[in-house]
Amino acid sequence: MASRTVPLVIAVDGPAASGKGTIAKALARHYDLPHMDTGLLYRAVALSLFRFGGDAASEFEALRAVDGLAQIDMGDEELRSEVVGSLASRISAYPAVRAALLQRQRQFAAQDGGAVLDGRDIGTVIAPNATAKLFVTASAEVRARRRLAELEGRGMPAHYDDVLLDIRARDARDAGRDSAPLVQADDADLLDTSELGVDAAIAAAIALVDARLAIA
Ligand code: C5P
Repeated sequence: MASRTVPLVIAVDGPAASGKGTIAKALARHYDLPHMDTGLLYRAVALSLFRFGGDAASEFEALRAVDGLAQIDMGDEELRSEVVGSLASRISAYPAVRAALLQRQRQFAAQDGGAVLDGRDIGTVIAPNATAKLFVTASAEVRARRRLAELEGRGMPAHYDDVLLDIRARDARDAGRDSAPLVQADDADLLDTSELGVDAAIAAAIALVDARLAIA
């Protein structure tokens, strides 16, 4: 890749199990950029809350759980569980929790050379001036099948109907909240991965970013 004088910041947003994490990691490799999975931050706060027995119905206790972030091992398998993901979706609706996590995400996006971040509000709130923004989506049924396969692959079997219900509930919470809801930024490119395999989805994402770079 040719060296750039302007930092390349890529924002990848989308609903649960849309493939945005896989795409963001592949973009980071392709453009040689550091990557942050911001969902993992919210999951870590959720796990911290869970471990100290805090109440997810309390914004104050969820905010206290942010202080426990340093005690969470970011490689902990529990972070990937459905229970933690669902709890993360609840506590991420609190403006105080979002505000407490804002700076570290913005700093990551602002580092020399640029970065790739994936989440729900990267293109709208964290990095509104990103060079390229992708909104990655897929039908709820396709996402439920992918999530099921992922869970089974990790030895955490589940039922399709339960996973689909959870995906729909998560979509409704993420899109319906007042604070930084999941929404496609006006200047984001839509990438629907429902009919795409992993390699095709990555190739499409790279083509979209390259097109943005060509006009940047
Ligand atoms: O992407 P992932 O499923 O790991 O995110 C877990 C939860 O964290 C999401 O359901 C969403 O509610 C929340 N989240 C968020 N903003 C982000 C990233 C994740 O609200 N930037």
